[in-house]
Amino acid sequence: MVSIVVVVINEGPDLAFEITRQIIVFQLNSILHGLVPTLDFALGLGMERGTTNVVHLLTLQPFGQVARYATRSVTHWAQTKGVFNGQLAEQARLVPIRAGLVTRLAEQKSKHISTQHDKSDPNYALKPKDSAMKAVMFEKFQEAPKVVTVDDPTPAADGVVVQVRATGVCRSDWHGWMGHDSDINLPHIPGHELAGVVASVGKDVRNWKVGDRVTVPFICGCGSCRECHAGHQQVCLHQQQPGFTHWGSFAEYVPIHRADLNVIALPESMDFATAASLGCRFATSFRAVIDQGKVSAGQWVAVHGCGGVGLSAVMIASAAGANVIGIDLDPAKLELARQLGAVAAIDGNGDVVEAIMEITKGGAHVSLDALGHPATMTNSIMCLRPRGKHIQVGLLLGEHAAPPVPMPKIVGQEIELLGSHGIQAHRYGAMLDMVESGKLDPARLVGDRIGLETAPEALMNMDKFQSIGVTVITSF
Ligand SMILES: [Zn+2]
Ligand SMILES: [Zn+2]
Repeated sequence: MVSIVVVVINEGPDLAFEITRQIIVFQLNSILHGLVPTLDFALGLGMERGTTNVVHLLTLQPFGQVARYATRSVTHWAQTKGVFNGQLAEQARLVPIRAGLVTRLAEQKSKHISTQHDKSDPNYALKPKDSAMKAVMFEKFQEAPKVVTVDDPTPAADGVVVQVRATGVCRSDWHGWMGHDSDINLPHIPGHELAGVVASVGKDVRNWKVGDRVTVPFICGCGSCRECHAGHQQVCLHQQQPGFTHWGSFAEYVPIHRADLNVIALPESMDFATAASLGCRFATSFRAVIDQGKVSAGQWVAVHGCGGVGLSAVMIASAAGANVIGIDLDPAKLELARQLGAVAAIDGNGDVVEAIMEITKGGAHVSLDALGHPATMTNSIMCLRPRGKHIQVGLLLGEHAAPPVPMPKIVGQEIELLGSHGIQAHRYGAMLDMVESGKLDPARLVGDRIGLETAPEALMNMDKFQSIGVTVITSF
């Protein structure tokens, strides 16, 4: 392994920048042409005197520690030369560039590298022209998101960047925007239900190439922890979730980590909007009903809340041969539940438990809270027959994070309580086979198709239960 450290000191900022840029471009070319096997990092420093001491640092390295060491060295040098002031350390900005950029640059070798100096952007020298994308971003929780322009993402060595062609608007995005998710760092781009085309590929990725039509489960496994090794990537100990742990798919491009483990090929017959609607709510329901609920023909299944998750569950449980009861406050959603296979539909304003007990002659075998509310959770537990299964699919967060649970029934009737959290990429095959064979038709759940400009409004209104089916952003 070769480490290259370059420090450029010059009184003229433009000249310093130009020298730095030239060195980095030279080093990139050296890597691309195999002159050096790896580049630990390149560091350029330009100093502007007469105004404030502005330090521009450019780094190209995968190892933060090396860069931090270099920063300290430079700071120390500046102190000994008497050119250090308090702003220097503050203004020194490290810009780690993932190794994937090298691959991307290799693909784009023929593209012109911008020589326009934007001194506010220490990464300017590495950006091809026209590498900005549109995205929906919020800078504060509960403050209206805006459509902004940000740099295109670059893939990690083991990741890909997907050009987003469709992305669903989900209640989980709303929870994130409300500030209910501790994974989110501001400013943030939401979006986790995506489908699109692979736009760039990290150097270690083996299974994917530019142009592949793909989707991804919203929980991406790390591939290295004991849960991933056991095939339970949906509860990976180091999981990545686009739109939560990093910037998501309310954007023209989104990075996906560990692509060989997490990315899924789309059948040619499936359009992007349908595929986007699969990624979270439909796939989550598939796992809840089939893998967790183990629903079988002839069983009674109650689905509390007929939004995207609930309607998916109605369709999937019906396809599995169960007698499904849909429950919702909205008559239009109940009607859709009936069309998707529910044998009964109950108005959630009435006594839901009594109605289900009567229809099922003693309670449901399996019941899902597909909404995530203390009231629907309680109804879902109370409507079960002895030894029935309650599956919590809807998120209970914020003020609802610790709801009272009717324990006497759970103990006295040996009720099972199960959580359900996403699905593993390796279970998509079974689900997609049922879609291709016509047993499941997720396209029927796609509701409004909107443009990126409308996404902020759709996101903020997700708690108002207005939309029927899944709202999908299909133009960017
Ligand atoms: Zn979702
Ligand atoms: Zn893992």
